[in-house]
Amino acid sequence: MSSVEIEMIRNQLPGWIKASLPYAASGEVASYIPELSKAPPDALGITLLDANGDVATAGDCHMHFTMQSISKVFTLILSLMDNGEDAVFRKVGMEPTGDNFNSMLKLELVRPGIPFNPMINAGAITVTSLIHGSSPQEKIERILHFFRKIAGNDRLRYDMDVYQSELENANLNRSIAYFLKENGVLETPVEEILDVYIHHCSILVNCADLARMALVLALGGIDPQTGKQLIPRRYVRIARTFMTTCGMYNASGEFAIDVGLPAKSGVSGGIMTLVPGRYGIGVVGPALNDKGNSQAGVQLLEMISKEMEWSMF
Ligand code: GLU
Repeated sequence: MSSVEIEMIRNQLPGWIKASLPYAASGEVASYIPELSKAPPDALGITLLDANGDVATAGDCHMHFTMQSISKVFTLILSLMDNGEDAVFRKVGMEPTGDNFNSMLKLELVRPGIPFNPMINAGAITVTSLIHGSSPQEKIERILHFFRKIAGNDRLRYDMDVYQSELENANLNRSIAYFLKENGVLETPVEEILDVYIHHCSILVNCADLARMALVLALGGIDPQTGKQLIPRRYVRIARTFMTTCGMYNASGEFAIDVGLPAKSGVSGGIMTLVPGRYGIGVVGPALNDKGNSQAGVQLLEMISKEMEWSMF
């Protein structure tokens, strides 16, 4: 039997989608990775999942899209599981920057020249470099295996068109990575690290996959189906904290005020968010606002969170 709340959400979702969709018109689909520009600008979908397996879903929830920056949450967790906290945070800081996700500005201004946090590209590339594996191929396979486990979906795969498209247009990430290498932050070959990083940004999901991944975080790292601890609790806390402080680029503060939930967005228009202890939520809306977050997706979450009184703050 579904909970009363999820029934209520199910009934309201189509109306909420309808009310949020017009916002997409003032957003723009990301094009700096050319393959991403093919996404429909007026799509909007959402899936909510609770621990009993009850689902509420509406709009373009079956659309597939690449995780992009959302993957950074789980590569951080895998890197922590591989290396422990001390080793990871020797190389990456814990503070928001106020800079763009792909900024290298502070790397030269601040000592030690380690990235500010694991959610900006410099930090995520560094975290990726620490993931265990004897070759880039092995790391790429380990990452996919881990993501499949968290998503409870053995069919997750890399979108090789998006991968190729980013690989050919990664001049900025390449600059960041070479700079980090020069500073001694990256210790393995730059092109191999970028290969692994661009791969995990290209993992293809739909809203249900994101909702299930978020639900594992909402439940403190527990697999909702088997009850198994998939992620140590402490690392879930770290991931949820970074989602709250740095997950929505330079609009993380605004999102915390208006929505009040840990969230991570990606340039493909995906947003993964959660209601602690209760729901995992996946959203997609490819038209982005000027901060790089899904324009209609943020509106939709704001509407739902206000109505359901979900803000943590
Ligand atoms: N692969 C993208 C990049 O590194 C991810 C950016 C994002 O989603 O914020 O540029």
